[in-house]
Amino acid sequence: MRALTFVPGSKGTLDVLEVPDPRPGQGELLVEGLALGICGTDRELVAADYGWPPPGEERMVIGHESLGRVLEAPDGSAFSPGDLVVGVVRRPDPVPCGACGRGEFDMCRNGGYTERGIKELDGFGSERWTVEAAYAVKVDRSLESVGVLVEPASVVAKAWEQIERIGARSWFEPRTLLVTGAGPIGLLAALLGRQRGLEVHVLDRAGPGLKSSLVEAMGGTYHSGSSLREFADAKPDIIIECTGAGPLVIDSMTTTAAVGIVCLCGLSPGGRSHRVDAGVINRDIVLENDVIFGTVNGNLRHFRDAAAALAKAELAWLERLITRRVPLTRGLEAFEPAEHDVKTVIELTA
Ligand SMILES: [Zn+2]
Repeated sequence: MRALTFVPGSKGTLDVLEVPDPRPGQGELLVEGLALGICGTDRELVAADYGWPPPGEERMVIGHESLGRVLEAPDGSAFSPGDLVVGVVRRPDPVPCGACGRGEFDMCRNGGYTERGIKELDGFGSERWTVEAAYAVKVDRSLESVGVLVEPASVVAKAWEQIERIGARSWFEPRTLLVTGAGPIGLLAALLGRQRGLEVHVLDRAGPGLKSSLVEAMGGTYHSGSSLREFADAKPDIIIECTGAGPLVIDSMTTTAAVGIVCLCGLSPGGRSHRVDAGVINRDIVLENDVIFGTVNGNLRHFRDAAAALAKAELAWLERLITRRVPLTRGLEAFEPAEHDVKTVIELTA
């Protein structure tokens, strides 16, 4: 079968190659790959910024945003042939740490976890793949065209769970949400905010176009810009920062209403410094009981929450997030930047 593979740590090695068919082990599903989402992490892996191959291997199958159809399921599992499934990305560290030992491997303490398509485990970028039934999540059949969004949605499902847990420290009835960055993560974070009844604002550098149209279609307000200045008066209760842009990260800390929550989802590049008044930031956070927290990855329950959130959303809206679909044979094209792209997906079936 064909698979999209690369040599972790080596640039220019991404290629569609023939690899041996996977054989499901005990308790594993055999899955026909349908779609693979490509995100910034995949582009960083291909650029050799990081990435670790399976022990003893040189190449690794790339891809962690999966969607497939079950071909074979072990007896007694909750899955049957024909079911749509998404594979969870992370596996607990072998020790395991206290979090991993409780299924919260997204909060691993020792960094010894592994990840499909990123760290020591083959990813889902192949015509067929296997996954432990215990790390597969069933997706409603109506979501076949967009089920590949479950993994990015799991990241924001976790973000929202954490926001609500933090909010529960005192009376918590947030009204307004600001999301910075209208990429797939930002738009899905906004969608989950709308599903919670919040007044949603999304800020992005892009002018009027698909992103603004998607935000307006969900009943949100789109702001084209790259600064939080316009939110200085009507401060949002919650900010979900998805750009990683230094000035936005810094300014978000002082732009929430009292008892505000800032959820940092974006990753900043290092090596850029910004002059800030630490005293102003400190006073704002302390005197307003604010919380600023970071979040990454998701565990099994976040994948299930994500699948449920997508099933509640409007299908046509989700379909518009997927702006580019390329066949596996031309899989390398998915890594080339495209204008006005939101989410690029590789189709794994011919
Ligand atoms: Zn751990």
